[in-house]
Amino acid sequence: MTTAALIVAAGRGTRAAGALPKQYAQLGATSVLARTFGVLLNHPAIDVAVVAIAEADRARYHAAIGGSHPRLAAPVLGGATRQRSVLNGLRALAPLAPSRVLVHDAARPFLTAEVVDRVLAALDRGPGAIAAVPLADTLKRAGPDGRIAATLDRADLWRAQTPQGFGFEAILKAYEAALAAGREDLTDDAAVAEWAGLPVELVAGSEANVKLTTAEDLAMAARAVEAAAATPGEVRTGQGFDVHRFADGDHVWLCGVRIPHTHALEGHSDADVGLHALTDALLGAIGDGDIGQHFPNTDPRWRGAASHLFLADAAHRVRARGGTISNVDVTLLCEVPKIAPHREAMRARIAEVLAVDISRIAVKATTTEGLGFTGRREGIAAMAMATVVLR
Ligand code: MG
Repeated sequence: MTTAALIVAAGRGTRAAGALPKQYAQLGATSVLARTFGVLLNHPAIDVAVVAIAEADRARYHAAIGGSHPRLAAPVLGGATRQRSVLNGLRALAPLAPSRVLVHDAARPFLTAEVVDRVLAALDRGPGAIAAVPLADTLKRAGPDGRIAATLDRADLWRAQTPQGFGFEAILKAYEAALAAGREDLTDDAAVAEWAGLPVELVAGSEANVKLTTAEDLAMAARAVEAAAATPGEVRTGQGFDVHRFADGDHVWLCGVRIPHTHALEGHSDADVGLHALTDALLGAIGDGDIGQHFPNTDPRWRGAASHLFLADAAHRVRARGGTISNVDVTLLCEVPKIAPHREAMRARIAEVLAVDISRIAVKATTTEGLGFTGRREGIAAMAMATVVLR
């Protein structure tokens, strides 16, 4: 199952930020788009993301994104309307054949991983789901004289947010059909899906997941971000330890890198002892159990599993608690194989899985001077530490 995220950032709305489209406005240390983008790209379920931008914003887009990202496709040009921009984005994603897509407005930078989780969970039950919040305000209909003509029943009324998630083929087909039928007045993706007859589930969004529209919205958001940044985080540390024994085979997986060797490591998964210790260190920092609890070795789903999945899940759990990974440090204890030639590849792979800069990743190795089970070359041990800042 491949999940794509399509971020719609092609709007020219400059009400909020003067001459600048609001998605490029500054929000604390970063821009609105960079913050939105970070939430989606850091989510472990998102395999690929693409941003629909306006031609005039190319330079602003590259400044906001700041370099390349392994899961980010080249930006696509939006159209005259949101509907056209989304269609362009869906067409650009089509060659990648994702199984599902989340469409999200760039101007909603306070999206959380939990809301993404809820929309994705609903897509396991049906072809469409959107984040939304039940209406809390009383609704009035205005008469021509500006006075109240009626008070409306708000029961069953929701405010639609994004992300809006769909089975990819179904929503692309719906968008193409709407265009062919001349329906270009549909203001969100759910409206296109409804028009095409697709059922769409409402799942709980969040009051914080607002769309920044006016200068007032932006000023309030900037104040909230600055206040949060000024609040010192709580520093947490966690440690992990793991051992796997050697068995017959011709390669080992260590810290996400495949290394040819005279033996393999034995285990239910790929037996990547380094990533297992590191996964436990991250879980330890947030007091969230251990790898064996989340990925039991009695579960056939994890037989032969690539251990980066475990590590990505632990990183997701950290971020879901409002945590930032400050640094991680892994020590491998073995006589063989030699680690030094692979150290940089290991750091790069861990940095990629955790979505943090490589400068925050350390991989070290030591022998045990021929002593103990590692010294007798019976297996490999790994220790890891992780530091997390919770806000
Ligand atoms: Mg293990």
